[in-house]
Order: sequence, then C-alpha cells, then structure tokens
Amino acid sequence: MYLIKLIGAVLGEFKLLLLPKLLVDEVVAISEGADLSQHLSNAILYIALTLGAEFLSNVLQNIANSTINYEKVYLDRILTYRLSQKSMEMDFQYTEDPDVLDQRTKAQDGIEWYSGGVTGIISCFYDVVFNLALMVTSVTLFMFYCPLLLPVQIIGMGFICFFNFQSQKVALAAFLRLGKLNRLFGYYLYDVASQKYGKDARLYDSSELMSGNAGKFGGMTVDTFRDQSVGTVKFDYAGNVVNAFRDGISYFYLGYRTIKGFLTLGDLTMCISAASRLYQSLLGIGRSFTNLTQKCSYAYQFLVYLDYPDALYRGDTKVKEGEHEIVFENVSFKYPRAEEYVLENVNIRIKSGEHLSIVGLNGAGKTTFIKLLCRLYDVTEGRILIDGVDIKEYSIEEYRKLFAVVFQDFQLFAFSLKDNVAMGKADSDIDEKEVEEALKLSGLYEDAIQLDEGLNTRLFKSFDEHGTELSGGQKQKAAISRALYRNAPIVILDEPTAALDPLAEYDIYKKFDTLVGGKSAIYISHRLSSCKFCDHIAVFSDKTIKEYGTHDELVSKENGIYAEMFAAQSQYYVEAAS
Ligand code: ADP
Repeated sequence: MYLIKLIGAVLGEFKLLLLPKLLVDEVVAISEGADLSQHLSNAILYIALTLGAEFLSNVLQNIANSTINYEKVYLDRILTYRLSQKSMEMDFQYTEDPDVLDQRTKAQDGIEWYSGGVTGIISCFYDVVFNLALMVTSVTLFMFYCPLLLPVQIIGMGFICFFNFQSQKVALAAFLRLGKLNRLFGYYLYDVASQKYGKDARLYDSSELMSGNAGKFGGMTVDTFRDQSVGTVKFDYAGNVVNAFRDGISYFYLGYRTIKGFLTLGDLTMCISAASRLYQSLLGIGRSFTNLTQKCSYAYQFLVYLDYPDALYRGDTKVKEGEHEIVFENVSFKYPRAEEYVLENVNIRIKSGEHLSIVGLNGAGKTTFIKLLCRLYDVTEGRILIDGVDIKEYSIEEYRKLFAVVFQDFQLFAFSLKDNVAMGKADSDIDEKEVEEALKLSGLYEDAIQLDEGLNTRLFKSFDEHGTELSGGQKQKAAISRALYRNAPIVILDEPTAALDPLAEYDIYKKFDTLVGGKSAIYISHRLSSCKFCDHIAVFSDKTIKEYGTHDELVSKENGIYAEMFAAQSQYYVEAAS
C-alpha cells in the first residue's frame, strides 16, 4: 500500500515540477509569435496531462490511505493485546512495582499517541523514502540548470537538521518524564472514578482530595508540555532564519540567470519550484529521519516492557501426583524494596491431608505466608519444600495448579456466573453439573437459579445492562464455589468470609472441611470457632509462628495468645447472646 501511495505522490510532484515549466514555455512561445497551432495543441496536451496526473495521484493516494487507516486499527489492537497479555503474565510482584507501572505507561503511550504504532513508524519510513526521491529529482534539476545553488541548499539544510535534532532531544526527555505523571494523573482521574472506588469515594466525600490531586498531576503534565514548547521553540526560530537566507540567495541567483538569458521563464518557474522542493525534501528527510528515530525510541519503551525479565526463578521439575507434604524451613521474607522483614524464621510442616488453621492479628503475616506458598513471591531466606523439593524447582504453571485459593480481596469478573465458577476453562470443557454442585456447597445455588438467566447471568453491568450485582456475601460464596470447582489438592481460604454472618461462616467452614476431605487445607480466619475442626492451629505473631497445636492444646495454654483471643471472642458471643 505504501508503494501505491509513493507512486501517487511521485505523480503529484511530476505534475507540479515539470508540467508548469512546459506550459509556461509554450505560452511564452505563443506570446512571442511562434506557430500558434503547434504550440496551442502542445499547451492543451500539457493541461490535460496536469489534470490527468492530478486525478490519478489523488485516486492512488486515497486508496492507499484508506487501507492504511484500516490496517492501523488492526495493528494497534495487536500491540495493545500484547501489552495486556504481558501485564497478565508477568510475575505478580511487578504489579505493585512503581518502575514497572511507569514502564507500562511509557510503553502504552509510546505505541499509541507518541509513535502512532506500527503504521506511525512505517509512515515515517515512507516519508524518508519519498523525500529521498524528491531530493534526487531536485538535485538532478539543479545540477543541470543552476549547480551553484546546490551548496547553499545543503549548508542551510545541515543547520536545519541540527536544530531539529536538538528539538527532538528536548521532546524525548519530556516524554520519559510524562510516563510517571500520566500514570498518577490517570489514577486520580480515571481509576478512582471507577465503580470499584465508587462507594468509598462518595461516602468519604473524597472528591476534593481526588480533584486536588488530579489537578496537581494534571498541572505537572501541562508544565512538562510547556517546558517542552519553550525548549523547542528557539530551535524552530533558528530554522526559520536559516530558511529565509536560503530562499533569498536562491531567488536572487535564479533571477540573475534568467535576466542574463541562461534560463527560460519556464526554467525559472521549475527552478523556483525545485528550490522549494529541494528544501522541503531535505527538511523532510531530516524531520522524518529524526521522527523515525524518535518514534522508534518511543516504541522501544514497548519492547522494554515486553522484555521485562521474570522476577521469579523458573524450574522445570514436574509435580508428582498424589499426596503432598508442605515444609517451611527457616523462611524469612521482606517485600521487594522494603527494609523490614515481614516474616522471620518460619518453620512448619503441613502433612498431606492435614487441615491447618492460621490465626493472628492484622498485619501478622498470614496472607504473606500464603503468597509465599503460592509462589506469588519467592522467599528472601530459607526454603519452602513440597514433597521434599524446593518449590522454585517446579514448573511454575504446574505448581500453581496444586492450589485452589480464595483471597480476602478475591475478584469476580464481568463474565457469567458459570464462567466465574469454572474460571479458565473453555465453554465446551465446563461441566455444568459440577458448577451446580460447587454452588450448592457454597450455599449460592438457590439464589443463582432465581437470577434472570440462571447460571448464565452476567455479573456486573459492564457488558450487559441486565447483568447482576451480587451482595458481598453472595460474591464470597461465588468465589468459594470457584475454589471448590477447581478440585485442586491443596485448598486455601484466606479469610474470604468476612462478609458472612458468623453462623453462615461457621457453616461454610464446616461444609468446606467435610468437602475438602482428604485434601490438605489451610484456613485463615478471625473467627476462632471455625478453627475448632482443624487438625492444627498456627498462631502468627511477631513475624513468626508463636504457637502451634490443636485447639484443645492451645486453648488451655496459660497466658497463650490463642487462649486469650479465644476467651475474648467467646465472651463477646456470650455477651451478645445474653
Ligand atoms: P495479615 O494477613 O496477617 O493481616 P499481611 O501478610 O497481609 O498480614 O501483611 C504483613 C505485613 O506485610 C504488614 O505489615 C503489611 O503492611 C506488609 N505488606 C503486605 N503486603 C505488602 C506489600 N505488597 N508490600 C509491602 N508490604 C506489604
């Protein structure tokens, strides 16, 4: 398509450069009394050629442009898809790393409005080729008609290229600064306006805080653009001055050669046109070349993002079938970029089929323990072994299949309820009976069949105005159904039942425990009554496991943390009941 566009553009230039000269020479010949019939028919032929070239040039360029526009959308989608795919596949810890988040914004901006994507870059390359063709044509004409003007054009252009290059450097520096600012600005302007934050933003009347911050970062963005304009404008002025000199010298010299009779009027017209074409082409080559390098360096940010290395080591050992024993050996951990350890010297053995309850105050490190076990992060010191093998040695994709986890901040997606439960499975692989079973076990089935389209009802309204909004408790039941459906050998519930009343929670844990049966299970819960039916309880405190044992052992321990917590909660329920 770019070749067709090039042919169209070259035809257009031919019409502008050569045909006016031929026409002017014919008109001058007629006005000087030459043979009218021959010169008139020549003049008519040149006019017809001009119109024909114009028409054909426009048709070719229009066809090419409309196809390029269509292909642009297609190619841009592919790039955006790759960006999202990389974001989904990259290690979890990157999702909260500010450098990676900034890089994502740079990558996105770089391939969207800064570089114009693949077509933006190819267009620049096309400009380089087109301007080269124009330059060669203009230089050939100059060498033939007025060779002395060539050095003037080239020196002028040298200066203009230099000024352009300086200006692009300023623009690139601004672009790199804008990556972070756009992300922060976007957070206050778009993310916070989303439904996820809707309730808190309204009830805590945070609009002033939000708009204040959006204003602040918006202002910093505007400042960066202003600095960029101020930084580049002086180079634009300098280019204009050089250009004025170049034009003046050219016109003076061409006029002189025409008066002296070395050039016809037609030649003069063509040379003036060629002078401006040569300037345009040299300028175009300089601009499109610096544009090309600049756009490539913007788009390069996209490649940097795609090439972000894995944060976690990836082994390739296969996970064995059957029973699985988990061992934490002197595990200590601090979050990336954090100074403080969150867990220190954690040692625990969870036998195959064991049901473990984890308790502890907020911030004690319970969720972190689960994140380490699921390999969302790697331990800082020590080892986690499953079946005697360091979990780093396993193929990470296979390893994660061992777990069915419900986190406290689990997410449901704007898919049908059925697809949410059978997450990750193609429609044809979903066993509806098993989905129903999982919903029955979590206690959501009765509500689900009342929905307009039963299990096929979409959650949320993003895709479907008839989509449903589940209550907090129903959402938790849906998330629990998802874990049940997965049928993985190790089941983890990280306090996903906070929105349920104590009885419903107790009921779910009890059912869950029966259902999980011979599988290993880890439960984190603040309601200690749900720990009773677990084989062991681990109490997290002071960054480690402070107490470990059965409910009966721990509850009778003098001055024990668990015993105290249990007594406090029992008292609350006794008081509440009386
Ligand atoms: P719990 O589940 O027991 O409430 P967490 O494991 O969530 O505790 O958190 C333990 C500690 O780790 C807390 O001090 C918390 O602030 C810190 N923490 C949790 N997540 C992160 C994170 N992504 N980056 C840095 N610190 C974190």
